[in-house]
Amino acid sequence: MIKETVFKPFLQEDDYQAITDSLKLGWLSQGSDTKKFEDAVKEYAQLHDRYVVGVSTGYAALHLALVIAGIKDGDEVITPSLNNIADFQAIENSGAIPVFCDIKDDTLCIDLDKAEKLITHKTKALIFIDYASWQPSYKAIKEFGEKHNLIIIHDAAHSFGWKQNNLYTGNFFDYTMFSFDPVKTITCIDGGILVLKDKEKAQLAQELRIMGMGQPAEINYQNKRAWSYDVKHKGYRYHLANSHAALGFNQLQKIDSIAQKRKQLFITYSQALADCKDMIIPQTDLNDIIPLLYVVRVQSSIRDQFRKELHEQGIETGLHWTPGHKFSYFKHYNHANLKVTNNVFDTFLSLPFHPTVNLETPSRIASIYKKLTHNPFYISHEVERQPIL
Ligand SMILES: *Cc1c(COP(=O)(O)O)cnc(C)c1O
Repeated sequence: MIKETVFKPFLQEDDYQAITDSLKLGWLSQGSDTKKFEDAVKEYAQLHDRYVVGVSTGYAALHLALVIAGIKDGDEVITPSLNNIADFQAIENSGAIPVFCDIKDDTLCIDLDKAEKLITHKTKALIFIDYASWQPSYKAIKEFGEKHNLIIIHDAAHSFGWKQNNLYTGNFFDYTMFSFDPVKTITCIDGGILVLKDKEKAQLAQELRIMGMGQPAEINYQNKRAWSYDVKHKGYRYHLANSHAALGFNQLQKIDSIAQKRKQLFITYSQALADCKDMIIPQTDLNDIIPLLYVVRVQSSIRDQFRKELHEQGIETGLHWTPGHKFSYFKHYNHANLKVTNNVFDTFLSLPFHPTVNLETPSRIASIYKKLTHNPFYISHEVERQPIL
């Protein structure tokens, strides 16, 4: 029986109460709690000169970003193949083609040298992510976008509350997406935020998220509906419901203690696994990030056996993620020159990582690993790494 799962939502009595209180307002659509959550996100992440638009999911935020950026049929959007399916489907649903890019072996984030080789006259945008506990250089990505005249969309699903050079995530690019789905650092059950730099674009996002209805969001924010409005655009049902936002708001009040628990677990893992031979463990500065996942790499020859033995001991592990180019629906898109991605896919695994993981679990994982690798059939060598091309 699995006792330790990779993820578990961290919900407490005050979270249930927050949802109940919101339901009792008698207004279930986007409303006063949506506004409260948007304002709280803006303040927490110090998005002073940005516009914060609450939406139903991180996926919805990405899709809206692409639509608002003017991405259309036949355009190409570069993104790492090691990414969430939401990104690929958002690109698909904008009419564009996802162009899968390789990652760097040390950060598992996008490799800009390889991205450069993928640029054609159809390339309009690049979506990059922060991954697990790593972030790429935002400055380098910004310069890359300027050099090639590309729209940059920052998928910050993993990096809500992270900083780079003392500035919070969300402040770096014209479009940033946050996700508050069930397994993210804080959750709205399902919810997302689109952060925009431009006021007109933010107004457009507010219309598109609710069927293109051209009514001021302020009316809904008072838990009221407008009875007269125009529709000027193709729209979507992407609004963030009151009760979902109420949960997000309540979770945000506790984010420092949630972050503390996650950092403590990260440190406990790093200490427990430090002397595991041939295992690559994440290195990062915990002052700047709140780790979302704990991803390690081991020799491909033992990875599946290691997962199996952990499973037998009640410890679930995950794979984040199957790369996009390996799925039937996407496999006809670029799948060349993805050596690092392919290698990472054969060697990585995600360990249980949420605020209520037992702090004994990391050392149990270490001893299962050591037993496996002290087997005479195990030939010690470094985890296969691909040279950077
Ligand atoms: C979770 C996640 C998404 C999708 O967000 P949803 O809120 O689940 O739609 C997109 N990108 C990354 C990197 C994610 O981790």
